[in-house]
Amino acid sequence: MSKESKSLYSAKLLINDIPVTVKSKRIKNMYLRVRAPSGDVEVSAPRQCSLNEIERWLFERHDWLIKQRERVAMQPSPPELQFVSGEEHKLWGKSHTLDVAVKKRGASVKCEGEQLQLVSLPHYNADQRKKIMDRWYREQITREVEALLDIWQPRMGAYSNSFGIRAMKTRWGSCNIRSKKIWLNLELVKKPAECLEYVLVHELTHLFERYHNVRFYALMDEFLPDWRERKKLTNQFI
Ligand SMILES: [Zn+2]
Repeated sequence: MSKESKSLYSAKLLINDIPVTVKSKRIKNMYLRVRAPSGDVEVSAPRQCSLNEIERWLFERHDWLIKQRERVAMQPSPPELQFVSGEEHKLWGKSHTLDVAVKKRGASVKCEGEQLQLVSLPHYNADQRKKIMDRWYREQITREVEALLDIWQPRMGAYSNSFGIRAMKTRWGSCNIRSKKIWLNLELVKKPAECLEYVLVHELTHLFERYHNVRFYALMDEFLPDWRERKKLTNQFI
């Protein structure tokens, strides 16, 4: 027999809308894992544990579970992407088929309906094609952030000094309240546009309130009443 314990039975649980697969095994302790990139949650439990006990154990780890899923949702595109024709790439929550043309000059990306048309140079490899895509993604999100700031800053009466876009592993955004600079995660360009709007309003709210306290959430409720749904959407795998 292999070292990996065989599953005796498996069951599905819902922990606050998060589907969890339970596998009962001949083991001593419970193990919890969040799989990337799907965000699927799996728990291995000793066979003497009842589903009720497992459920209680999971609820105690609920906050950790949410954090882990957020982390997985923030991971950049799967490394197996090669940036070749036929691949699916996301833009504002929608899948687009990549179409790569090789030309001598003019590396660029264009969105045409459901296609992303990438012009690559003859000697470019996957990394270089990814760089062209990321540069283009950065332009798209920058334009969107500028438009959103024009709407939200006067509406909220909160003004940032500048913003930047970068890949971040553990956050969707951040706000330096002293310099009034906002950072946004580049991956937001692949989520529905409501997600970027939610993160931006969240960061602007920090200009009023530094901490995630009652006052902060009251302000969020006032500015963006559906922010909870948007937060969920941001951390979904779509
Ligand atoms: Zn915050």
